[in-house]
This record gives sequence, C-alpha cells and structure tokens, in this order.
Amino acid sequence: MHQPRLPKLDLRRLIVGLTLLTAFGTLANSLLAARHVQRDVLIRNALDSNRAYAAKVASGIDGFLRDAQRRLAYSSGLLADNFGDAVLRHAEAERLQAQDMAFNSVAIVDEYGRVMDAVPETLELGGSLVTSPGAKQALAVRQPLVSQAIHSTIGNLIVLVSFPIISQRKKYLGFVGGSIYLHEAGVLHTLIARHFYRNEARVYIFDANRRLLYAPDRTRLGTKLGRNEVVDDVLTGESGAMIISNSEGIEMVSGFASIPASNWGVVVELPLDAAIAPLDELVFKTLLSSAPIGFLGLVAIWWFSSRITRPLKALAENSNAAPSAALLERVRDIDAWYFEAENIKHALLAGIAHTQDTLNRLSIAAQTDPLTDLFNRRALDDVLRLLEAKAQSFSVLAIDIDHFKSINDAHGHDVGDVALIRLGGLIRESLRHDDIACRVGGEEFLVILPGTSIKAARAIAERLRQCVEQASTAPFGKLTISVGVTIWPLDSATPSDALKEADRLMYLAKQRGRNRIESTSHVDHRADLDTSG
Ligand code: GH3
Ligand code: MG
Ligand code: MG
Repeated sequence: MHQPRLPKLDLRRLIVGLTLLTAFGTLANSLLAARHVQRDVLIRNALDSNRAYAAKVASGIDGFLRDAQRRLAYSSGLLADNFGDAVLRHAEAERLQAQDMAFNSVAIVDEYGRVMDAVPETLELGGSLVTSPGAKQALAVRQPLVSQAIHSTIGNLIVLVSFPIISQRKKYLGFVGGSIYLHEAGVLHTLIARHFYRNEARVYIFDANRRLLYAPDRTRLGTKLGRNEVVDDVLTGESGAMIISNSEGIEMVSGFASIPASNWGVVVELPLDAAIAPLDELVFKTLLSSAPIGFLGLVAIWWFSSRITRPLKALAENSNAAPSAALLERVRDIDAWYFEAENIKHALLAGIAHTQDTLNRLSIAAQTDPLTDLFNRRALDDVLRLLEAKAQSFSVLAIDIDHFKSINDAHGHDVGDVALIRLGGLIRESLRHDDIACRVGGEEFLVILPGTSIKAARAIAERLRQCVEQASTAPFGKLTISVGVTIWPLDSATPSDALKEADRLMYLAKQRGRNRIESTSHVDHRADLDTSG
C-alpha cells in the first residue's frame, strides 16, 4: 500500500528554521543566564538591605531606651538624697512625664513596692503596692531595667523602663520607672517610620519572651512568636541576614538584629518573590531592547537564505525537465554564485548535453540509411509531413540505377554495395543544404528539393546524371541512372502522389532508353519565381 507522501521541506525553510532555532535558543539561554545572575544580585542586595535596616531600627530603639534610662538615672540621683521629700518626688515624676513624651506614665516606688508617686494621677496608684510583673522584676533585680512586655491592668501592652534609687550609703531605696504603651502609635512606630525603606518589607520587634511588641498587623501585638531560627539567633544577641520559610511556607529574605539595652530583637522580612520581582521587568526590557536588532537579523536571515537557496532551487526545478535547447539555456542563465551551486550547475549542464547528444544520435540512427548515410524512408515521411503542414512547395527526383542487377551479378553483392555508396556520395555532393536525399529501396533514391522549380530541379537532375555517368568506373564498370522529376503542389493532390508521379516518370525514362531524365510536362510558374537554382 502506498502512503501519501508529505511534501519535502525545502532548503530555505531548513536554513531559516535552523537559524531561528539557534537564535532563539541563544537568546533564551542568555536571558536565563542573565536572570540567574541578576537574581543572585537582587537577593544579596535584599539580604544586605534587610540586615542594615534591622540594625538601624535596633540601634534607634537601643539609643532611645538608653536615653530614657539616662533621664531616669538623673532623677534617681536627685531622689537618692531626698527620697522622703514628697514635693520633690512629685515634681520629678511630673517633670519626667512632661519632658519625655515617650513615657505614658511615671512612677516612683519604694523598696517595699509601695507607689510613692505616680503621674498622671488619674491612675490612682498612689500609696498602693505595685502588682505588675515589670515593677516586681525591677524590685527583684535592683538594676537598670527594661522589663519584659506585660499586659497592664487595663489591657495595654506595656514595658517598664526603670532605674534603681540608691542612697549615698549604698542603700537600695526603690526605683523610678516610666511605662511605654506599645499598642498606641507611639515611640516604636515613630522610630521605625524614621528608617522607612520599602513598602513590602515588614518589621517585627519582640522581647526576650518572644512576645510581639511591634508588628504590621496590630492584632498580633502581645502574642508570642513560635520557634523560628531567626528569632532564636536574635535572642542570643546575633545579627545578620538569611532566607527562611515563614510559618505559611513562604520564603522570606530576613534581616535581624538585637537590641542590647532590652534584650529585644528586630526582624525585617521581605518575601523572596518581592525581592526578585524586578527580574521580570529586566527580562522584558532586555527583550525589548534586543527586538530591533533581532528584527533586522530576521530580515537578513530571510534575505541571505533566499540568495543561497535560489540557485539550488532553480537547479532542482530544472533537473527533471526533458533535455532541450531551451532547458540548456535556462540552466545556463541560473546565477550560481558560489562554489557548490556552480559545480552542480556544471554537472547538470553536462548531463543535459550528454542526454541530448545521445538522443540526437539515436534519432539520427533511426532516420539514417546505414549503407549510404542518407536519410531513410521514415525520415522522408517526416520531411514530407512537415512540408505539407507548412504548404512548402518542393520538387522531387526519383532516381534508379540502370541494370544494377547485372553489376551485382558481374562483381558480387559487395561491389554492388560500393556502387550504392558511391552514388549516395555523388547525390549528396550535388545538393544544397536544405535539400533532402533518401535511399528508399535497394538501388532507388528520392531527392526532395524544397522551394525549387521544376526547371531548376531538372537542371539539378541532369547535372547529377552526367556526374554519375562520368564518375570513376572501378571496380563495378560504368554506372548510369534514370531520373523522374516532378513538383508539388500542382499536378498532384498529396506529396505521396507527387512521389508516385516521380516514380512513374522514372520508369518512363527506363522505357525510353535509360540514362535519361523525364519530367512533368507542365511548368510551375510560381515555383519558378522563387527558385534559388
Ligand atoms: P533496371 O535498369 O530496370 O532498373 O534494372 P535493374 O537490374 O536495376 O532492376 P531490378 O529492380 O530488377 O534489380 C534491382 C537489383 O538491385 C536487384 C537486387 O539484387 C539489387 N539490390 C537491391 N538491394 C541491394 C543492395 O542493398 N545491395 C546490392 N548490392 N544489391 C541490391
Ligand atoms: Mg529498381
Ligand atoms: Mg535499377
């Protein structure tokens, strides 16, 4: 069974396809490589930025807390010598609270935990015992302290910054402390906003108990963070940056730093996707900037491939055509401008010439009488058809050797052949280029003289007759011919009728004694006009 054959790819499509494949492959490869390198750079930058940002926020808060402690330390110094002075205590508490907007409230507490003074007074803490874990912690450690974050009695998230009051005799008298409310848009918010650096980055601040002091989502304030590598590192005092997955499995570029004054931590997070988001824009811009050159490249490929394939295509299209002079001309005209095409063209030309030559020789052989090299009967028929189609007038000579049989008989068949060959040569020599001589039978010949008048034909016949009569006689003795001469058209309906008439006249010549010419009695005036002799 025959499979339907798919049309073959042509060379041009192959070249264009291959070039495009290579070009796009290379482009994709370099884009990927650039993207990869750029991705690393972006991630490194994000790590550096987040590390720096976390460090800045941490040092800002650390500085702020140390300032607050310094101010408390100053008051503590004043109070140390006059702890019993209620007026002074109140004045200091008010001064601290008024001077420092950071403190939402200020309290002075004695060594037993009694609130000696508190501002603002609305808190109504005066005289009561402290209850908050921060204050208890301050009493316990008797050191400058930033307490762990605590929920106040009225639900605020508070840290207490405190400084011990120690008399000149080194007796611990109590502490002076200021509370900072974290959930209000207060001090942390201001400090963080001061170092604002990019929208997508999120800042978290937490205390040593992992309790969130600051988070973009306010509702999370006060909640505890789970186990997390970054948080663990920060709480051991480290700072740095790394990529980690958050609780939702999203990769985050994290910078972190600790706040030594309070043993808190700062983490700055940026989703990895946000950090490398500029990559797509980079790829797009790269594509955009390479588009004009790419387009020119495509046009160039198109043009060159067409130049390269044109001669091969033309050669291929002509390779199966029947050999002819026109084909030879077409192939010669192909502009084979490079080595391979030129060689193929030469091979094709040689092939066509060879085939044509072979065909020519075959057709010559088919139309030639092998003994005399004159045309044979078949060639004669072709010629007559052609002349009839063209309505070309012609004269005919029908030639027969006289007493040829006796030559054969006297000298043998081979010598008879020599006589035939000799006569063929004499006929050929007596003719012009356009005349056609044929051997149509054993010792019978026909000559067609296109465009020749009967008169001229007769003259030619007479010249031939004399020539044969005078020709060398060895080895077959004397040779004579009888000739019938007629013309077409005039007396005859068809060319073959003209041939028959010429034959008849030839036999008439035999009857009238041989070695003579008989011709049509009419004279064709038209043919006489265009005779060329
Ligand atoms: P006429 O003058 O009446 O033409 O006499 P003739 O002998 O030529 O006539 P005829 O037609 O009787 O004889 C022709 C002879 O030509 C007969 C044959 O032996 C001879 N012949 C035919 N073909 C060839 C050939 O190819 N070679 C040779 N050697 N002889 C041939
Ligand atoms: Mg004969
Ligand atoms: Mg004869």
